[in-house]
Amino acid sequence: MVEARNVIGATAPTDADAAAPPRRLSTYDAEGVRRAIHDLLVAIGEDPDRDGLRDTPDRVARSYQEIFAGLWQEPEDVLTTTFELGHHEMVLVKDIEVRSHCEHHLVPFTGVAHVGYIPAGGRITGLSKLGRLVDVFARRPQVQERMTTQIAEALMRILEPRGAIVVVECEHLCMSMRGIRKPGARTVTSAVRGQLRDPATRAEAMSLIVAR
Ligand code: ZN
Repeated sequence: MVEARNVIGATAPTDADAAAPPRRLSTYDAEGVRRAIHDLLVAIGEDPDRDGLRDTPDRVARSYQEIFAGLWQEPEDVLTTTFELGHHEMVLVKDIEVRSHCEHHLVPFTGVAHVGYIPAGGRITGLSKLGRLVDVFARRPQVQERMTTQIAEALMRILEPRGAIVVVECEHLCMSMRGIRKPGARTVTSAVRGQLRDPATRAEAMSLIVAR
């Protein structure tokens, strides 16, 4: 199933993907990653044959398969819909763990996402599915702004809610361990769709998000 999704042309482009890089066209190449990490170690001046590094290319190849597993998934794979006709009010899941990698430096950015929506037609999803939706997009080389938009667009497309809000707060290691070196600085991004754009509704959502 995973292979079938990733052949050329198998995935129809959508608005949410418009700003995204093209999807992978082949299967995960563990041997290619292993080779690349070996060469990378040589290039930075290390000895890939010394004790501590001998298994590093293999380990990185295995861990990248997990870290970038979202490249092989679509939001539809995790965001299943169920019906609960009684519920029409906002559903908000706060502090969903985000573990992603910035695509400019391939170092982690980590933090939390808050994901909310107002159901329409009784269409809801399991609360844990919102966390898995975040993972689908986080487990790709990313920029935080695009990830935030992709989560909101996927919610709107699949659940067709009356509105959606996604707020992401992350610390970027590329900012704290290199370059401008600003540890602790957090980047906050948001994407708001549908009825949640209404000032009163948006204010209600934001007050729930900032409440500790
Ligand atoms: Zn970066």
